[in-house]
Amino acid sequence: MPIRKKLTILGSGAAGLTAAIYAARANLEPLVIQGLQTGGQLTITTDVENFPGFPNGIQGPELMEQMIAQAERFGTQYIYDNAESIDLSKRPFVIKTSSEEIHSDVLIVCTGASAKLLGLEAESKLMGHGVSACATCDGFFFKEKKVFVVGGGDTALEEAMFLTRFASSVTVIHRRETFRASAIMIDRAKRNTKVDYLLNSKLEEIMDVSKGEVTGVRVRNIKTDEVTEYPADGVFIAIGHQPNTDLLKGHLPLDENGYVISKGVFTDIVGVFAAGDVMDSIYRQAVTAAGTGCQAALEAQWLLEKEEAERDELGKPEEAKPKDAATSVREPAAKSV
Ligand SMILES: Cc1cc2nc3c(=O)[nH]c(=O)nc-3n(C[C@H](O)[C@H](O)[C@H](O)COP(=O)(O)OP(=O)(O)OC[C@H]3O[C@@H](n4cnc5c(N)ncnc54)[C@H](O)[C@@H]3O)c2cc1C
Repeated sequence: MPIRKKLTILGSGAAGLTAAIYAARANLEPLVIQGLQTGGQLTITTDVENFPGFPNGIQGPELMEQMIAQAERFGTQYIYDNAESIDLSKRPFVIKTSSEEIHSDVLIVCTGASAKLLGLEAESKLMGHGVSACATCDGFFFKEKKVFVVGGGDTALEEAMFLTRFASSVTVIHRRETFRASAIMIDRAKRNTKVDYLLNSKLEEIMDVSKGEVTGVRVRNIKTDEVTEYPADGVFIAIGHQPNTDLLKGHLPLDENGYVISKGVFTDIVGVFAAGDVMDSIYRQAVTAAGTGCQAALEAQWLLEKEEAERDELGKPEEAKPKDAATSVREPAAKSV
């Protein structure tokens, strides 16, 4: 027997849980399909110092536990599973997990984007303990420290330059002789005398998992095969992000990097909204994810209300739709004179 919902949210990161808090407080009894990473990306980091409301910072997992509890308090239901398939061709939309089938009038996609990692054991073990995938988030913790940045694209060079505001030394490790980054970014990085480079080089190991902190890196020169160890306090992996959108391929328009194409929180399909990192390759912060989660929930609520009112008026059960998927059903407030 399928579960029938007005509103279903895919993902339990900052975007999904904020959407759930708003939707639950609007009495929509939302269902959150949490995915395999309950609480999302912030659960793999330690100190979060830039989420408003916590002057002394808060641990990422604790912040997410609080959001889960807050959404639950107002009536959010959870399924601890991945959505495995979706059908958005007609409403109600159909979402299937390994054991459940959900029919939902409205869907908010908040499946996030995972930082790509190199696959070293130390990366995940030391994530939040000297290893990071976000300079904006964690650069501040590396005042007067020696840090290494892995990658050769725009993000890596941008993160390296940002880190020079704090770190005593910043060294970019890149596998090739030349960078994939844009010419303008390479130019800016070259003019920044605080950034050093290890080119034709591969990060082979991050020490020291047994100490629970970063103490050094082992780097192999791919051309000479020479292996060198350097003392280090931090390692930033900046090799890109992978939006979690495999499920959406063929159902929602995605850009060339796999992010959901949306106009604000509106996708091409009436009743399907997107929020958080899955539609935002630029800001990628918990507070921006939460902000778009809020917007998506409000738009979902207003759409449902409008459709209900239209059904009441017209006596028509299913077909009430706004003319354009990508606009709010709310009129902007009139300008005061
Ligand atoms: C190491 C690290 C440190 C960071 N530190 C900070 C910081 O200090 N401050 C800050 O503002 N930001 C920080 N960020 C960025 C922040 O974590 C993200 O911007 C934020 O988590 C994005 O929230 P989201 O809800 O869009 O996605 P995510 O947090 O990525 O959550 C995605 C959710 O989707 C779920 N999901 C995926 N696929 C499916 C599926 N098929 N079905 C159902 N669910 C699915 C996952 O289980 C997960 O719950 C950090 C990121 C990293 C990696």
